[in-house]
Amino acid sequence: MAAETETVWLVNISPEKWPPRNRTYFGSLEVRSPEAGEAYAVTPIRGCKGFIDMGDRRTVDYRLTAKEVADDIAREINGDSGEGSFHGVFVSAEARPSDGELAEARRKLQEFQRRLVAAADLEWERSKNPMFITDLERRAARQLGQEKPWLYDAKPLAECPVCGEKIKHGVAVCRSCGAILDREKAARYGFVSKEEPARDMLRQKR
Ligand SMILES: [Zn+2]
Repeated sequence: MAAETETVWLVNISPEKWPPRNRTYFGSLEVRSPEAGEAYAVTPIRGCKGFIDMGDRRTVDYRLTAKEVADDIAREINGDSGEGSFHGVFVSAEARPSDGELAEARRKLQEFQRRLVAAADLEWERSKNPMFITDLERRAARQLGQEKPWLYDAKPLAECPVCGEKIKHGVAVCRSCGAILDREKAARYGFVSKEEPARDMLRQKR
């Protein structure tokens, strides 16, 4: 009886949103993620009954405890990123996890994230190519609050609509021909005055 009435809790300390978990025995389940300002989020998990279809109209019933269901889901979420993989989900017997449980989860998550960042650093040293840095590694660096040169996707260069030279995205003034490409930004940095739009080009040329 206990198996059907007991509840355990999936605790998630990562702000990451996970796609719903699907199982034949309970359908679809969404593991909650902490919102801004929350240290963790909990999702109640109950035990359930399932059956195995043996064919020929014979089925075998089985029962999963809440703990078994929760362990299964936690293992799936945590374990999909290789060795030492941990994404901040653990099983607790209480809706309020203990400080010890939370501290241990934080330690494991940070350890895994530091490893991802170290791997990305090594990759960056070797290739200097942001394409080789994974989303997971970027996320790890952000969550650890680390500023890294490989955090940003390198955008391909744009073309100046006036002279056709390659320029960076978002620049206010073309460094090749002096065309004002973003009037507001150019004005903010004192390249042009907002009141004299007609003379912008002349000023730049002088
Ligand atoms: Zn130009």
